Amino acid sequence: MSCLRLILGDQLNARHSWFGEPDPNIWYLIAELPQETGYVRHHVQKICAFFASMKHFAKALQQAGHQVIHLTLDETAAYADLLALLRAKIAELGVERFEYQRPDEWRLLQQLRDFNAGIAMREVDTEHFLLPFEEIAKQFKPGRASRMEAFYRRMRKRYGYLMNGDEPIGERWNFDSDNRQKLKPEDLHSIPAPLIFSTDVSAILERLQRHQIDHFGKAEHNLLWPTRRSEALALLDYFCQHQLALFGRFQDAMTSQSEHKWSLYHSRLSFAINAKMISPKQVIETAITAWMSRPDEIELAQIEGFVRQILGWREFIRAIYWVNQPEYGSLNALDAKQPLPDYFWTGQTRMHCMRQCIEQSLDYAYAHHIQRLMVTGNFALIAQLDPDPVDAWYLGIYIDALEWVEQPNTRGMVLFADNGIVASKPYAASGSYINRMSDYCKGCSYKVTEQTGARACPFNSLYWGFMLRHRERLGTNPRIAMLYKNWDKRTPEAQQAILERAQWCIENLNEL
Ligand SMILES: Cc1cc2nc3c(=O)[nH]c(=O)nc-3n(C[C@H](O)[C@H](O)[C@H](O)COP(=O)(O)OP(=O)(O)OC[C@H]3O[C@@H](n4cnc5c(N)ncnc54)[C@H](O)[C@@H]3O)c2cc1C
Ligand code: SF4
Repeated sequence: MSCLRLILGDQLNARHSWFGEPDPNIWYLIAELPQETGYVRHHVQKICAFFASMKHFAKALQQAGHQVIHLTLDETAAYADLLALLRAKIAELGVERFEYQRPDEWRLLQQLRDFNAGIAMREVDTEHFLLPFEEIAKQFKPGRASRMEAFYRRMRKRYGYLMNGDEPIGERWNFDSDNRQKLKPEDLHSIPAPLIFSTDVSAILERLQRHQIDHFGKAEHNLLWPTRRSEALALLDYFCQHQLALFGRFQDAMTSQSEHKWSLYHSRLSFAINAKMISPKQVIETAITAWMSRPDEIELAQIEGFVRQILGWREFIRAIYWVNQPEYGSLNALDAKQPLPDYFWTGQTRMHCMRQCIEQSLDYAYAHHIQRLMVTGNFALIAQLDPDPVDAWYLGIYIDALEWVEQPNTRGMVLFADNGIVASKPYAASGSYINRMSDYCKGCSYKVTEQTGARACPFNSLYWGFMLRHRERLGTNPRIAMLYKNWDKRTPEAQQAILERAQWCIENLNEL
């Protein structure tokens, strides 16, 4: 039976069972789609990375003997949307069946499930994740709080990663507390240079201009992100060779003092994994093999920290996304309403930490987890920014941003807009956290030690403004109750001065 198979931009999985043997009755469709460039305003490097990777994937399939239709914006611009394009191709090819891999985004899944192709249709799995899709609803409940740690332990047992029978190697499941170190001045010179690539994306940039596709961020004619499976594998090997040994230790660290400050010891594999060029299983198993072959160099705490991110957090976040769709994307439990300040699009703020993280994001379409969570995210939380534009910003700016992973991280982990489904308490912090984990405060025009007055670090008063505003909701949490007790010990004058500064900051967010 002749068949058209759709491959979306984040379904570049060469190991999928679809691609076993070439079949002259099967056509594969890979298409640059205006609808995918327009559902949010994207960083230009993100669009280029997806389009370049799709082209390389199409070529690799063709070289393996498959029939591939690869369409650029020039050929798809005339169609109203994905479905209009599919209808046209189905009629043109005269195929009897249409097949697609289940999209990872609710928006696309609905679109395809609602599609009436007029011929037989089949949805198949992407064969990528470690937790089967069908099991999500058995392990998670909509609207119900879940904890990553319990899920992670189940996954460790299930896959046997870093296990001794039923017990974790090292007799502990989680070595997070051994990590979390700041980079000292003497550590800076040994930060490895990141492995970067150089894909010529000039033709894509021209197309974006020709079709007036809105975008932002620094455009590079030579894209540094991996756009082929071979490059994804090279990045993984480089990580295991040069970064894994200190991954966990400096996972939370931030600096403005190194030329490699944007990459540090992070793998930067998220785009390649999310586009499915490489599987999470392969990433985990390659890293574990590296740890086993160099036990003197790579401590257990480092490999455990890395495995936890992928086997634990990544799979957990996906499950939270699916079990809570479509409601999750409009949650705003803390009733946050402030508009997104302009400097999120320019980096032009006197807050040095924010400037560093935003400028880096505009330059590379990348920031590491703690920059996203504890700098920009923490600011968005304590400044009580409206979750909708915050969500759209994170979804647009990062190279790896796909709704299934971006949304629970932003609404849940960062903004607590889900009222604790993802996190047991908000990750709110004053400037002292940023000072503890970075050298940003040294180069700042604000004083991290001050809480009141025009030069006081805005994070300090905003933190208390946020905590006091939500005292009723948060005060019952035993992990937070002590903080309120300390607040109560302050004089009423001192409390009032801090809250007045917080109010001023909220009313003048764009001036900070
Ligand atoms: C507000 C916010 C938004 C985020 N949006 C995205 C997003 O759109 N896409 C995305 O892939 N990640 C997102 N993350 C998670 C995390 O920040 C990125 O996965 C990570 O920074 C990618 O860089 P890396 O590959 O160098 O990661 P590393 O630090 O090298 O970590 C290794 C891998 O672990 C996985 N991982 C680590 N933390 C998480 C997490 N919290 N959730 C899911 N996977 C995780 C990623 O696959 C990552 O590649 C977000 C985090 C926050 C706080
Ligand atoms: S002083 Fe405050 S605003 Fe400045 S870098 Fe430190 S935490 Fe950021």
